[in-house]
Amino acid sequence: MIRDADKLANLVTEVRDWVRDVAHPNEDRVAEANEVPDEIVADMAARGFFGWSIPAEFGGLGATTEELVTLALELSQCSVAFRARVGTNTGIGSEALVADGTADQKARYLPELASGRATGCFALTEPDAGSEATAVATTARRDGDDYVLDGRKCYITNAPIADLFTVIARTDPDTPGARGLSAFIVERGMAGLSTSAPYRMMGQAGSPVGEVILENCRVPAANLVGGKEGEGFRTAMRVLNKQRIHLAALCTGPAIRMFDLAFAHAETRRQFGKAIVDFQLVAALLADCQTEIHAARALVLETARARDEGKDIALQASICKYFASEMCGRVADRAVQVFGGAGYVADHSPIERYYRDVRLFRLYEGTSQIHQLNITRQTQKARAA
Ligand SMILES: Cc1cc2nc3c(=O)[nH]c(=O)nc-3n(C[C@H](O)[C@H](O)[C@H](O)COP(=O)(O)OP(=O)(O)OC[C@H]3O[C@@H](n4cnc5c(N)ncnc54)[C@H](O)[C@@H]3O)c2cc1C
Repeated sequence: MIRDADKLANLVTEVRDWVRDVAHPNEDRVAEANEVPDEIVADMAARGFFGWSIPAEFGGLGATTEELVTLALELSQCSVAFRARVGTNTGIGSEALVADGTADQKARYLPELASGRATGCFALTEPDAGSEATAVATTARRDGDDYVLDGRKCYITNAPIADLFTVIARTDPDTPGARGLSAFIVERGMAGLSTSAPYRMMGQAGSPVGEVILENCRVPAANLVGGKEGEGFRTAMRVLNKQRIHLAALCTGPAIRMFDLAFAHAETRRQFGKAIVDFQLVAALLADCQTEIHAARALVLETARARDEGKDIALQASICKYFASEMCGRVADRAVQVFGGAGYVADHSPIERYYRDVRLFRLYEGTSQIHQLNITRQTQKARAA
C-alpha cells in the first residue's frame, strides 16, 4: 500500500541520488576502513534512513511494507555495508518493539532507533541454535524486579556497535522448543552484557557482525517485550516474516547494481571487432539476469502489498527470500562471467566484492534449505485447509 505516491516518488529520487552521489564513490573507502564513516552515518540519520519502518508518532516514517521495500530496493543498489548500517533499525532491530512492544517500551526506545541515535540488533542465533532456532539455550531467570540473562549469541549483525539488543532467551527451562522463549530489550551498559570484536568475514566489509555475551546480565522486568513471558518465538517469527520480504528487496537491489555494471561493461568491452553485448551467449547471460530481477521485484512488491492488506504471507515471504537470495547469487556469478578477468580482480571492478558480499544472503534469516522446507510445509498446510 502506498499512502502518498508523490511523497514516495520524491523519497525514492532522494535515495537514488544519494546512492549514486555518496554511496558509490565511497564503496572502496568503506571496504578498506571496514566501517561506514561517521559523517556518512550522520548523513543517513539526518535523512531519516534509520526510521523508515518505525511509526511516525515515534519519529519514523511509518512506512507500509510496500513503501519500505520500494525504498529498500533503491538503498541496496550499492555496497551492502551502507544499508546494513541502517538495516537493523529499519528491520530486525526495531520490529519486535514495533510489533509487540508495550506503550512504554515503544515510547522509550523507538525514537532512539528512528533517529539513528541508537543502533539496534536482533540476537536469536546461538552456537547450538542456528537453523534450529527454537533450541535457544540462553536463559532468563526472574529475580525480583529483574530478569537475569545468561548465554551467548553468535553471528549478530551490528552487535559490536549496537546500543540496543533484542535478545531471545528461555524464561521457562522446563518447556523446550518455542513455547519457553521470551524476547527482551537489553541496553548496552547494563551490567553483564558485552560484545566481541567484529568477525573476519568473506565479505560485507564495513558491516560489523559479532557475538553477544550475557553473564549474569540484569535486565529490568519492564524490558520483557510485550510484558508477557512465552511470546518470544512468536515475536521473532513476526519480525522474521516481515523481514523476509524486506530482505528479498535488499537482495534484489545489489542484483540490479551488478546487472547495470555488467550491462555497461558488455556494451563497452570490445572483442573480435565488436562489443561483447552483441555476442548471443553474452546477451543470454544478461537476459537471464534482467528476467530474474524483474521476477524478484514483482514477487517482493506483490507480497508486500498482500501483507499490507493483512493477508497471511508466511508462504509468500519464504518464497520471496528464497528466490531473491538465490537469484542474486546467480546474477553475481553471471556478472563475473560478463566481466571476464576484470570480474575477478578487485583492482579492475567492484564485481568481485559484490560477489563475496551477496553470498551471505543465502545463509542468514533462514538458509535456502530451511526456506525450501518451509515452502513445502506451508503449501501442504494450504492444500489441507
Ligand atoms: C554474517 C552473518 C550475519 C548474521 N546476522 C544475524 C543476526 O543479526 N541475528 C541472528 O539472530 N542471526 C544472525 N545470523 C545467523 C544466521 O541466521 C544463521 O547463520 C543461519 O540461520 C544458519 O544457522 P547456522 O549458521 O547455525 O547453520 P546450520 O543451522 O548449522 O546449517 C548448516 C547447513 O545445514 C543445513 N541444514 C540445517 N538444518 C537443516 C534441515 N532441517 N534440513 C536441511 N538442511 C538443513 C543448512 O541449510 C546449512 O546448509 C547471521 C549469520 C551470519 C553469517
